[in-house]
Amino acid sequence: MAKKRDSSSTAVVIGAGPAGLGTALGLKRKGIDVLVLERQEEIGLCRRGETIRYSQEMEGLLYPGFFNKHTVHRINKRRYYSHSEKMYVDRTISTENLIINWTYFMSDIADVVRREGVEIRTGVEVISLIEDHGLIKGLKAQRPGTKKEESIFADTVFSCGGIDDPGSCHIDLDRRFTDFPIYKRLIRGFRGPQDRLEYYLHVDKESIPGIGCIFPRGKGEAEIILLLLTNTMKSFKLPVPFLQVEEFPEYHPTFRDRLNGTETYYTNNTLIPMGGVLSTFAPVPGLVMVGDALGHVDVRGGSGIRTSFLLGYSAGRLSASVIKSGDWSPDKIKLFETHMMENPQMRLLKRHALIYGTARRLLFQRLNDPNKMDKWWFFLKSLMR
Ligand SMILES: Cc1cc2nc3c(=O)[nH]c(=O)nc-3n(C[C@H](O)[C@H](O)[C@H](O)COP(=O)(O)OP(=O)(O)OC[C@H]3O[C@@H](n4cnc5c(N)ncnc54)[C@H](O)[C@@H]3O)c2cc1C
Repeated sequence: MAKKRDSSSTAVVIGAGPAGLGTALGLKRKGIDVLVLERQEEIGLCRRGETIRYSQEMEGLLYPGFFNKHTVHRINKRRYYSHSEKMYVDRTISTENLIINWTYFMSDIADVVRREGVEIRTGVEVISLIEDHGLIKGLKAQRPGTKKEESIFADTVFSCGGIDDPGSCHIDLDRRFTDFPIYKRLIRGFRGPQDRLEYYLHVDKESIPGIGCIFPRGKGEAEIILLLLTNTMKSFKLPVPFLQVEEFPEYHPTFRDRLNGTETYYTNNTLIPMGGVLSTFAPVPGLVMVGDALGHVDVRGGSGIRTSFLLGYSAGRLSASVIKSGDWSPDKIKLFETHMMENPQMRLLKRHALIYGTARRLLFQRLNDPNKMDKWWFFLKSLMR
Protein backbone atom coordinates (compact mmCIF):
# COMPACT_ATOMS: atom_id res chain seq x y z
CA MET A 1 0.00 0.00 0.00
CA ALA A 2 1.17 3.54 -0.74
CA LYS A 3 2.79 5.11 2.29
CA LYS A 4 3.52 8.77 3.13
CA ARG A 5 6.47 9.20 5.44
CA ASP A 6 5.62 10.74 8.82
CA SER A 7 7.49 14.03 8.72
CA SER A 8 6.29 17.06 6.78
CA SER A 9 9.64 17.63 5.02
CA THR A 10 10.94 14.36 3.71
CA ALA A 11 13.53 13.26 1.23
CA VAL A 12 14.27 9.79 -0.05
CA VAL A 13 17.77 9.04 -1.32
CA ILE A 14 18.39 6.16 -3.73
CA GLY A 15 21.77 4.49 -3.11
CA ALA A 16 24.19 4.47 -0.18
CA GLY A 17 27.33 5.19 -2.21
CA PRO A 18 29.45 8.35 -1.76
CA ALA A 19 26.84 10.55 -3.52
CA GLY A 20 23.85 9.17 -1.59
CA LEU A 21 25.55 9.33 1.81
CA GLY A 22 26.91 12.84 1.15
CA THR A 23 23.42 13.96 0.10
CA ALA A 24 21.78 12.40 3.17
CA LEU A 25 24.27 14.13 5.48
CA GLY A 26 23.75 17.51 3.80
CA LEU A 27 19.96 17.17 4.03
CA LYS A 28 19.93 15.98 7.64
CA ARG A 29 22.20 18.80 8.77
CA LYS A 30 19.67 21.23 7.30
CA GLY A 31 16.83 19.64 9.26
CA ILE A 32 15.31 17.39 6.60
CA ASP A 33 14.04 13.94 7.52
CA VAL A 34 15.89 11.49 5.24
CA LEU A 35 15.46 7.85 4.28
CA VAL A 36 18.24 6.14 2.26
CA LEU A 37 17.42 3.00 0.27
CA GLU A 38 20.26 0.69 -0.74
CA ARG A 39 19.77 -2.45 -2.82
CA GLN A 40 22.80 -4.31 -1.49
CA GLU A 41 22.32 -6.31 1.70
CA GLU A 42 25.24 -4.46 3.31
CA ILE A 43 26.89 -1.11 2.65
CA GLY A 44 30.03 -1.22 0.49
CA LEU A 45 29.74 -4.84 -0.71
CA CYS A 46 30.29 -3.92 -4.36
CA ARG A 47 33.77 -2.38 -4.37
CA ARG A 48 34.43 0.56 -6.67
CA GLY A 49 37.25 3.12 -6.24
CA GLU A 50 39.94 2.48 -3.63
CA THR A 51 42.40 5.30 -4.37
CA ILE A 52 41.70 8.75 -3.01
CA ARG A 53 43.58 11.96 -2.16
CA TYR A 54 43.23 13.51 1.28
CA SER A 55 40.40 16.04 1.29
CA GLN A 56 40.22 18.46 4.18
CA GLU A 57 36.70 19.40 3.13
CA MET A 58 35.45 15.80 3.20
CA GLU A 59 37.22 15.00 6.45
CA GLY A 60 35.74 18.16 7.98
CA LEU A 61 32.25 16.85 7.20
CA LEU A 62 33.01 13.41 8.68
CA TYR A 63 35.44 13.48 11.64
CA PRO A 64 39.09 14.35 12.35
CA GLY A 65 41.44 11.51 11.41
CA PHE A 66 38.94 9.84 9.04
CA PHE A 67 41.40 9.54 6.13
CA ASN A 68 44.27 8.38 8.29
CA LYS A 69 42.11 5.68 9.84
CA HIS A 70 41.18 4.29 6.41
CA THR A 71 44.57 4.49 4.70
CA VAL A 72 46.10 1.05 4.17
CA HIS A 73 48.94 2.25 1.93
CA ARG A 74 50.34 5.56 0.61
CA ILE A 75 51.88 6.21 -2.81
CA ASN A 76 53.28 9.36 -4.40
CA LYS A 77 54.95 7.89 -7.51
CA ARG A 78 53.56 6.90 -10.88
CA ARG A 79 54.98 5.21 -13.95
CA TYR A 80 53.37 5.34 -17.40
CA TYR A 81 54.40 2.77 -20.05
CA SER A 82 53.86 3.13 -23.79
CA HIS A 83 52.08 0.22 -25.47
CA SER A 84 55.36 -1.43 -26.54
CA GLU A 85 56.85 -0.79 -23.06
CA LYS A 86 59.96 0.54 -24.88
CA MET A 87 59.14 3.96 -23.43
CA TYR A 88 58.09 5.01 -19.97
CA VAL A 89 57.96 8.11 -17.81
CA ASP A 90 58.14 8.44 -14.01
CA ARG A 91 56.27 11.10 -12.09
CA THR A 92 56.15 12.14 -8.43
CA ILE A 93 52.97 13.77 -7.18
CA SER A 94 52.78 16.28 -4.33
CA THR A 95 49.54 15.02 -2.69
CA GLU A 96 49.97 11.29 -2.22
CA ASN A 97 47.38 8.73 -3.25
CA LEU A 98 45.80 7.05 -0.25
CA ILE A 99 44.81 3.44 -0.76
CA ILE A 100 41.66 2.49 1.15
CA ASN A 101 39.40 -0.51 1.68
CA TRP A 102 36.10 0.50 0.00
CA THR A 103 33.93 -1.68 2.23
CA TYR A 104 35.28 -0.28 5.52
CA PHE A 105 35.45 3.26 4.14
CA MET A 106 31.82 3.27 2.98
CA SER A 107 30.50 1.47 6.10
CA ASP A 108 32.21 4.07 8.28
CA ILE A 109 30.64 6.96 6.33
CA ALA A 110 27.28 5.22 6.67
CA ASP A 111 27.82 4.97 10.46
CA VAL A 112 28.47 8.72 10.64
CA VAL A 113 25.31 9.38 8.63
CA ARG A 114 23.24 7.02 10.82
CA ARG A 115 24.56 8.62 14.00
CA GLU A 116 23.17 11.94 12.76
CA GLY A 117 19.72 10.38 12.60
CA VAL A 118 19.41 9.25 8.97
CA GLU A 119 17.57 5.97 8.41
CA ILE A 120 19.38 3.66 5.96
CA ARG A 121 17.49 0.60 4.73
CA THR A 122 19.61 -2.03 2.98
CA GLY A 123 18.36 -4.86 0.77
CA VAL A 124 15.76 -2.56 -0.84
CA GLU A 125 15.88 -1.95 -4.58
CA VAL A 126 14.16 1.05 -6.17
CA ILE A 127 12.48 -0.11 -9.35
CA SER A 128 10.82 3.08 -10.62
CA LEU A 129 9.95 6.66 -9.81
CA ILE A 130 6.40 7.91 -9.31
CA GLU A 131 5.64 10.94 -11.48
CA ASP A 132 2.40 12.87 -11.31
CA HIS A 133 1.72 15.80 -13.66
CA GLY A 134 5.44 16.33 -14.30
CA LEU A 135 6.38 16.20 -10.61
CA ILE A 136 8.31 13.34 -8.96
CA LYS A 137 6.33 12.36 -5.90
CA GLY A 138 8.07 9.22 -4.72
CA LEU A 139 9.23 5.82 -5.83
CA LYS A 140 8.46 2.14 -5.96
CA ALA A 141 10.78 -0.27 -4.25
CA GLN A 142 11.04 -3.95 -3.50
CA ARG A 143 13.34 -6.50 -1.87
CA PRO A 144 15.51 -8.01 -4.64
CA GLY A 145 14.12 -11.40 -5.63
CA THR A 146 10.59 -10.65 -4.37
CA LYS A 147 7.64 -9.27 -6.31
CA LYS A 148 6.06 -7.27 -3.49
CA GLU A 149 6.29 -3.57 -4.31
CA GLU A 150 6.19 -0.74 -1.82
CA SER A 151 5.38 2.86 -2.79
CA ILE A 152 7.20 5.51 -0.81
CA PHE A 153 6.16 9.14 -1.19
CA ALA A 154 8.48 12.05 -0.46
CA ASP A 155 8.82 15.75 -1.09
CA THR A 156 11.98 15.15 -3.13
CA VAL A 157 13.72 12.06 -4.49
CA PHE A 158 17.53 12.13 -4.68
CA SER A 159 18.71 9.65 -7.26
CA CYS A 160 22.26 8.59 -6.41
CA GLY A 161 22.26 5.04 -7.73
CA GLY A 162 25.43 5.30 -9.84
CA ILE A 163 25.72 3.93 -13.36
CA ASP A 164 22.32 2.19 -13.40
CA ASP A 165 20.53 4.89 -11.48
CA PRO A 166 16.71 4.76 -11.59
CA GLY A 167 16.51 8.55 -12.15
CA SER A 168 18.86 8.26 -15.10
CA CYS A 169 16.60 5.53 -16.56
CA HIS A 170 13.49 7.63 -15.83
CA ILE A 171 14.73 10.55 -17.91
CA ASP A 172 16.26 8.23 -20.54
CA LEU A 173 19.81 9.59 -20.36
CA ASP A 174 22.00 8.53 -23.26
CA ARG A 175 25.09 7.13 -21.53
CA ARG A 176 26.72 5.40 -24.53
CA PHE A 177 29.71 7.71 -24.76
CA THR A 178 29.93 8.53 -21.07
CA ASP A 179 30.24 5.15 -19.40
CA PHE A 180 33.35 3.09 -20.13
CA PRO A 181 33.72 -0.62 -19.35
CA ILE A 182 36.06 -1.16 -16.42
CA TYR A 183 37.37 -4.43 -15.00
CA LYS A 184 38.61 -4.53 -11.45
CA ARG A 185 40.54 -7.29 -9.76
CA LEU A 186 42.11 -7.47 -6.31
CA ILE A 187 45.09 -9.79 -5.97
CA ARG A 188 47.35 -11.29 -3.29
CA GLY A 189 50.94 -12.45 -3.65
CA PHE A 190 51.95 -9.33 -5.61
CA ARG A 191 55.74 -8.94 -5.72
CA GLY A 192 56.03 -5.90 -8.06
CA PRO A 193 56.98 -2.38 -6.91
CA GLN A 194 54.95 -1.28 -3.86
CA ASP A 195 55.81 2.40 -4.09
CA ARG A 196 54.28 3.44 -7.41
CA LEU A 197 51.07 3.26 -9.40
CA GLU A 198 51.69 1.81 -12.86
CA TYR A 199 49.75 2.61 -16.03
CA TYR A 200 50.09 0.59 -19.26
CA LEU A 201 48.67 2.29 -22.36
CA HIS A 202 47.08 -0.05 -24.90
CA VAL A 203 46.61 0.97 -28.55
CA ASP A 204 46.64 -2.29 -30.48
CA LYS A 205 44.60 -1.78 -33.68
CA GLU A 206 42.65 -5.00 -33.20
CA SER A 207 40.88 -3.89 -30.04
CA ILE A 208 39.43 -0.85 -28.28
CA PRO A 209 42.22 1.30 -26.74
CA GLY A 210 42.55 1.19 -23.01
CA ILE A 211 44.69 1.61 -19.94
CA GLY A 212 45.79 -1.25 -17.69
CA CYS A 213 46.67 -0.16 -14.14
CA ILE A 214 48.42 -1.76 -11.19
CA PHE A 215 47.78 -0.05 -7.85
CA PRO A 216 49.72 -1.68 -4.98
CA ARG A 217 47.84 -1.95 -1.69
CA GLY A 218 50.70 -2.96 0.64
CA LYS A 219 51.19 -6.35 2.30
CA GLY A 220 51.57 -8.07 -1.10
CA GLU A 221 48.15 -6.96 -2.36
CA ALA A 222 47.33 -4.92 -5.48
CA GLU A 223 44.35 -3.61 -7.42
CA ILE A 224 44.34 -4.36 -11.15
CA ILE A 225 42.20 -2.11 -13.36
CA LEU A 226 41.53 -2.28 -17.08
CA LEU A 227 39.69 0.75 -18.46
CA LEU A 228 38.45 0.64 -22.07
CA LEU A 229 38.12 3.98 -23.84
CA THR A 230 34.99 3.25 -25.82
CA ASN A 231 34.43 6.91 -26.66
CA THR A 232 37.28 6.55 -29.16
CA MET A 233 35.24 3.94 -31.04
CA LYS A 234 34.15 6.36 -33.74
CA SER A 235 37.64 6.03 -35.28
CA PHE A 236 37.30 2.24 -35.63
CA LYS A 237 35.54 0.18 -38.22
CA LEU A 238 33.08 -1.65 -36.02
CA PRO A 239 32.81 -4.27 -34.68
CA VAL A 240 36.05 -4.10 -32.70
CA PRO A 241 36.43 -6.63 -29.89
CA PHE A 242 36.56 -5.45 -26.31
CA LEU A 243 39.78 -6.60 -24.73
CA GLN A 244 39.21 -8.73 -21.63
CA VAL A 245 41.32 -8.36 -18.52
CA GLU A 246 42.62 -11.91 -19.02
CA GLU A 247 43.93 -10.96 -22.49
CA PHE A 248 45.72 -7.77 -21.48
CA PRO A 249 48.90 -9.48 -20.14
CA GLU A 250 49.42 -11.17 -23.54
CA TYR A 251 50.19 -7.75 -25.03
CA HIS A 252 52.15 -6.29 -22.10
CA PRO A 253 55.03 -8.46 -20.79
CA THR A 254 55.91 -6.33 -17.75
CA PHE A 255 52.26 -6.27 -16.71
CA ARG A 256 52.18 -10.06 -17.18
CA ASP A 257 55.30 -10.55 -15.04
CA ARG A 258 53.79 -8.46 -12.26
CA LEU A 259 50.78 -10.78 -12.15
CA ASN A 260 52.76 -14.02 -12.16
CA GLY A 261 52.06 -16.17 -9.11
CA THR A 262 49.29 -13.91 -7.77
CA GLU A 263 45.88 -15.02 -6.54
CA THR A 264 42.66 -13.13 -7.32
CA TYR A 265 40.32 -12.57 -4.36
CA TYR A 266 37.81 -10.04 -5.79
CA THR A 267 36.54 -9.13 -9.26
CA ASN A 268 34.04 -6.61 -10.55
CA ASN A 269 33.21 -5.95 -14.21
CA THR A 270 31.25 -2.73 -14.42
CA LEU A 271 31.16 0.76 -15.95
CA ILE A 272 32.66 4.09 -14.95
CA PRO A 273 31.36 7.43 -16.27
CA MET A 274 34.60 9.00 -17.49
CA GLY A 275 33.28 10.56 -20.67
CA GLY A 276 31.95 13.84 -19.32
CA VAL A 277 29.22 15.39 -17.22
CA LEU A 278 25.60 14.60 -18.09
CA SER A 279 22.33 16.54 -17.71
CA THR A 280 21.39 19.01 -15.01
CA PHE A 281 21.05 18.26 -11.29
CA ALA A 282 17.26 18.64 -11.21
CA PRO A 283 16.02 17.38 -14.61
CA VAL A 284 12.40 17.04 -13.41
CA PRO A 285 10.73 18.93 -10.52
CA GLY A 286 11.05 16.83 -7.37
CA LEU A 287 14.03 14.85 -8.67
CA VAL A 288 17.69 15.62 -7.92
CA MET A 289 20.52 13.48 -9.29
CA VAL A 290 24.15 13.39 -8.12
CA GLY A 291 27.30 11.26 -8.49
CA ASP A 292 28.01 8.61 -11.13
CA ALA A 293 24.34 8.93 -12.08
CA LEU A 294 25.37 12.20 -13.76
CA GLY A 295 28.99 11.38 -14.57
CA HIS A 296 30.55 13.23 -11.62
CA VAL A 297 33.92 11.53 -12.06
CA ASP A 298 36.99 13.64 -12.70
CA VAL A 299 38.12 12.46 -16.15
CA ARG A 300 41.72 13.49 -15.40
CA GLY A 301 42.39 10.83 -12.78
CA GLY A 302 39.13 8.87 -12.54
CA SER A 303 38.36 10.15 -9.06
CA GLY A 304 34.68 10.10 -8.23
CA ILE A 305 34.49 9.27 -4.53
CA ARG A 306 35.35 12.72 -3.25
CA THR A 307 33.48 14.67 -5.94
CA SER A 308 30.32 12.54 -5.57
CA PHE A 309 30.32 12.88 -1.78
CA LEU A 310 30.97 16.64 -1.77
CA LEU A 311 28.53 17.41 -4.58
CA GLY A 312 25.94 15.25 -2.81
CA TYR A 313 26.48 17.17 0.41
CA SER A 314 26.04 20.51 -1.40
CA ALA A 315 22.96 19.30 -3.28
CA GLY A 316 21.42 18.14 0.00
CA ARG A 317 22.07 21.42 1.77
CA LEU A 318 21.01 23.64 -1.12
CA SER A 319 17.76 21.82 -1.78
CA ALA A 320 16.69 21.83 1.88
CA SER A 321 14.99 25.22 1.64
CA VAL A 322 13.16 24.17 -1.53
CA ILE A 323 11.97 20.99 0.19
CA LYS A 324 10.76 23.00 3.17
CA SER A 325 8.85 25.40 0.93
CA GLY A 326 7.54 22.50 -1.19
CA ASP A 327 8.11 24.62 -4.27
CA TRP A 328 10.07 23.06 -7.15
CA SER A 329 9.01 25.86 -9.51
CA PRO A 330 11.16 26.65 -12.59
CA ASP A 331 12.65 29.69 -10.81
CA LYS A 332 13.66 27.65 -7.78
CA ILE A 333 15.16 24.94 -10.01
CA LYS A 334 17.11 27.56 -11.96
CA LEU A 335 18.52 29.04 -8.76
CA PHE A 336 19.44 25.61 -7.44
CA GLU A 337 21.19 24.70 -10.72
CA THR A 338 23.11 27.98 -10.74
CA HIS A 339 24.40 27.38 -7.23
CA MET A 340 25.37 23.79 -8.00
CA MET A 341 27.21 24.84 -11.17
CA GLU A 342 29.18 27.38 -9.13
CA ASN A 343 30.37 24.65 -6.77
CA PRO A 344 34.21 24.39 -7.06
CA GLN A 345 33.96 20.58 -7.51
CA MET A 346 31.59 21.06 -10.41
CA ARG A 347 33.77 23.69 -12.08
CA LEU A 348 36.77 21.38 -11.83
CA LEU A 349 34.84 18.43 -13.24
CA LYS A 350 33.63 20.43 -16.22
CA ARG A 351 37.04 21.95 -16.92
CA HIS A 352 38.80 18.59 -16.73
CA ALA A 353 36.15 16.89 -18.86
CA LEU A 354 36.72 19.49 -21.54
CA ILE A 355 40.52 19.59 -21.46
CA TYR A 356 41.61 16.07 -20.50
CA GLY A 357 38.60 14.22 -21.90
CA THR A 358 39.04 15.80 -25.32
CA ALA A 359 42.84 15.45 -25.28
CA ARG A 360 42.68 11.77 -24.32
CA ARG A 361 40.07 10.93 -26.92
CA LEU A 362 42.01 12.66 -29.68
CA LEU A 363 45.32 11.11 -28.65
CA PHE A 364 43.99 7.57 -28.47
CA GLN A 365 42.25 8.07 -31.81
CA ARG A 366 45.34 9.44 -33.53
CA LEU A 367 48.11 7.43 -31.85
CA ASN A 368 46.30 4.14 -32.28
CA ASP A 369 49.42 2.24 -33.31
CA PRO A 370 52.24 1.14 -30.95
CA ASN A 371 55.02 2.51 -33.20
CA LYS A 372 53.32 5.86 -33.59
CA MET A 373 52.91 6.01 -29.82
CA ASP A 374 56.65 5.46 -29.27
CA LYS A 375 57.53 7.99 -31.96
CA TRP A 376 55.37 10.64 -30.29
CA TRP A 377 56.26 9.64 -26.73
CA PHE A 378 58.28 12.78 -26.06
CA PHE A 379 55.17 14.88 -26.68
CA LEU A 380 52.79 12.38 -25.10
CA LYS A 381 54.69 12.07 -21.84
CA SER A 382 54.41 15.81 -21.23
CA LEU A 383 50.65 15.25 -20.79
CA MET A 384 51.16 12.69 -18.03
CA ARG A 385 51.31 13.96 -14.49
C1 LIG B 1 36.41 -0.16 -10.79
C2 LIG B 1 36.31 1.28 -10.39
C3 LIG B 1 37.43 1.92 -9.87
C4 LIG B 1 37.33 3.26 -9.47
N1 LIG B 1 38.43 3.85 -8.94
C5 LIG B 1 38.31 5.05 -8.33
C6 LIG B 1 39.36 5.59 -7.54
O1 LIG B 1 40.42 4.95 -7.41
N2 LIG B 1 39.16 6.76 -6.91
C7 LIG B 1 37.98 7.45 -7.01
O2 LIG B 1 37.83 8.52 -6.40
N3 LIG B 1 36.95 6.97 -7.77
C8 LIG B 1 37.09 5.79 -8.40
N4 LIG B 1 36.03 5.26 -9.10
C9 LIG B 1 34.81 6.06 -9.22
C10 LIG B 1 34.03 6.06 -7.91
O3 LIG B 1 34.00 4.78 -7.33
C11 LIG B 1 32.61 6.51 -8.22
O4 LIG B 1 32.68 7.74 -8.92
C12 LIG B 1 31.78 6.71 -6.95
O5 LIG B 1 31.66 5.49 -6.28
C13 LIG B 1 30.41 7.26 -7.33
O6 LIG B 1 29.59 7.30 -6.22
P1 LIG B 1 28.01 7.17 -6.39
O7 LIG B 1 27.48 7.22 -5.02
O8 LIG B 1 27.53 8.12 -7.40
O9 LIG B 1 27.78 5.72 -7.03
P2 LIG B 1 28.07 4.30 -6.43
O10 LIG B 1 29.33 4.29 -5.65
O11 LIG B 1 27.96 3.35 -7.56
O12 LIG B 1 26.88 4.07 -5.42
C14 LIG B 1 25.57 3.86 -5.88
C15 LIG B 1 24.83 3.05 -4.86
O13 LIG B 1 23.46 2.97 -5.26
C16 LIG B 1 23.00 1.65 -5.11
N5 LIG B 1 21.91 1.47 -6.06
C17 LIG B 1 21.98 1.47 -7.41
N6 LIG B 1 20.77 1.29 -7.97
C18 LIG B 1 19.91 1.18 -6.93
C19 LIG B 1 18.52 0.95 -6.86
N7 LIG B 1 17.78 0.82 -7.95
N8 LIG B 1 17.94 0.88 -5.64
C20 LIG B 1 18.69 1.00 -4.50
N9 LIG B 1 20.01 1.20 -4.52
C21 LIG B 1 20.61 1.29 -5.71
C22 LIG B 1 24.22 0.81 -5.43
O14 LIG B 1 24.12 -0.50 -4.87
C23 LIG B 1 25.34 1.61 -4.79
O15 LIG B 1 25.56 1.27 -3.46
C24 LIG B 1 36.11 3.94 -9.56
C25 LIG B 1 34.99 3.30 -10.10
C26 LIG B 1 35.08 1.98 -10.51
C27 LIG B 1 33.89 1.30 -11.07
